[in-house]
Amino acid sequence: MSRLVDGVRHFRSAEYPKRSDQFQSLAGGQSPNALFICCSDSRVNPTLLTNSEPGDLFVVENAGNIVPPPGRPGGGGEHGTGGEAATLEYAVRALKVPEIIVCGHAKCGAMGGLMAPESLGSLPLVADWLEHSTSVRERVNAEHADASPQEKVDAAIKANVLLQLEHLRAHDCVKEALAAGTLTLSGWVYDFVSGEVIRWDEDQQSWVEVA
Ligand SMILES: [Zn+2]
Repeated sequence: MSRLVDGVRHFRSAEYPKRSDQFQSLAGGQSPNALFICCSDSRVNPTLLTNSEPGDLFVVENAGNIVPPPGRPGGGGEHGTGGEAATLEYAVRALKVPEIIVCGHAKCGAMGGLMAPESLGSLPLVADWLEHSTSVRERVNAEHADASPQEKVDAAIKANVLLQLEHLRAHDCVKEALAAGTLTLSGWVYDFVSGEVIRWDEDQQSWVEVA
């Protein structure tokens, strides 16, 4: 029996009974605190990281915590709608989430691939996907020309979060909610090794600790 089936057995017998009231109360709908956009990386667990419960977070996970912008494949309209754009629209217009967090993370393989495109020879779809963040590679290589490869990946992880906030701001649903004052955007980077979480401070134009 697979590890996952054992996990379901444990959930049904030990976890669900403790939470059955909670799940019953969620049957009528959801009103999540945030749309949380993070990497698919198995080491990133947004619910654990934010001490959240079922019903608290609406989550998008993909390679590199990327949001295709309007005017690019997957960004919606004539260029085709991807899961990210549709999920974003639903979160903002239907669920009216008050906050969107884009969370990058340390040791991100997607950002490693972005900075070393020659390593993506057998991953043409990943290479295509990372095209959404090409400007990050160009900017990091220009601004950190003398940095080591690892330092460049670390810089790309942060720069990519900021680029995705720009992509978010370009979507109509986000523009409308920001103009109405009903939505805030945040950029985080999570280091799962040290447990540290930093956020981009727009006023200070620097990264500061979350909380
Ligand atoms: Zn990652």
